[in-house]
Amino acid sequence: MTSLRASLGSMDLNEKSNCGLTLKKTADKVKSKKLAIYTFIDAFGWEIYQQYGFLNKLLPHSRKLETTFGFSSAADPSILTGRYPDEHGHWSSFYYSPETSPFKHFNLLSLLPSRLFDRWRVRHILSKAIAKMNHYTGYFELYSVPFAKLPFFDYLEKHDYFVPGGILKTDTIFDWCVTNNIDYYCSNWRHTEESIIEENKKVIREGSIKMNYLYLPKLDGLMHNEGTQNPKVKAKIKWLEQQVNDVYDTARMHYDDVSLYVISDHGMADVTGSFDLIKQIENLGLIYGEDYIAMYDSTMARFWFKNESARQIITNELEEIEQGEIVSDEELAAMHVPHDDKKFGELFFLMNVGLLINPSYMGLSVIPGMHGYHPKDPHSYASILSNRPISVDINSITDIRKTMEFELSCDLHVENDHDLNRND
Ligand SMILES: [Zn+2]
Repeated sequence: MTSLRASLGSMDLNEKSNCGLTLKKTADKVKSKKLAIYTFIDAFGWEIYQQYGFLNKLLPHSRKLETTFGFSSAADPSILTGRYPDEHGHWSSFYYSPETSPFKHFNLLSLLPSRLFDRWRVRHILSKAIAKMNHYTGYFELYSVPFAKLPFFDYLEKHDYFVPGGILKTDTIFDWCVTNNIDYYCSNWRHTEESIIEENKKVIREGSIKMNYLYLPKLDGLMHNEGTQNPKVKAKIKWLEQQVNDVYDTARMHYDDVSLYVISDHGMADVTGSFDLIKQIENLGLIYGEDYIAMYDSTMARFWFKNESARQIITNELEEIEQGEIVSDEELAAMHVPHDDKKFGELFFLMNVGLLINPSYMGLSVIPGMHGYHPKDPHSYASILSNRPISVDINSITDIRKTMEFELSCDLHVENDHDLNRND
């Protein structure tokens, strides 16, 4: 997400605002009518919220939200577009496309000592260099995809979809704000949480935006590394509460009316074990690249086949594995995974909740927390909390966009306020 201050038609404070109300000018400060704060806390799922709570007095309204199947690369665009992956086109980071692969010569790197290149830090630095070379503005990470396998894949998130025009298909709330001349501020995801908080407060103090997207990504990493029950998680949530409360207090000083939302993309499950799926598949004697291609994400594997025999052998093998299940084409369609062109895989195998594929192309060690299991698993659900009543039709992360448009359509807000209260 790139910092974007869409300064669209700075408002004449003596004129009528978009909401049809004359803004009041006071001696020491100018209050704008209304601000909607959307605080995104990565992985602050419904179960985490149930256990730890979050600003319970300030945010008395809450709702469990179904997430999308897959990882943040599918869920975050779903929040911003208000649509499912089969509409906006974003799903997993890597997809089979040797013709367009930007990693065509990376197999040469596989000749170098893996001791060095398997280190996360080295890969992270390399990822940054590749992103720069290819002019990628989106989030780019090589993870642990073996260099010899990279030439089979292309990378989806080349553009920053937190900037208008960055989404593959449809539009984001930020595109919508630009179209509707609504001034907003979106955090810069490359900055630290501390900086993001200060930057948001600074813009809020100017009093001209109608929405800010406060992006707080660090809880996700902490729970991946420590699990959901480590005391550090409780301390982190306490710290987040203080920061969000502080942002809210700042907003109250500069706006008459502040709607505060805390939203998330998915939950987090504690890892209970792992399974070496790569070894199991490699033991079948098939040749990667000639018979099949596989992408091993941390909780699922995706396969493409070069011949029917390989398809049969791998399918038979997967059907025997008790630690996970093949996801049928019908279920992929029901979960709105883009699957018509088989770009993201011909066959999907999903691990049972709590189990990791290890090693995988996403990591080489077992970590205590993971998401990316079945959306119906209790650990998977996301959450929305607010100081405003939440309408009964808000049940999925794809519904968050509706609340944003509602908040930003002031006339609509006044008309429907009564209905909303009744529905909650
Ligand atoms: Zn995560």
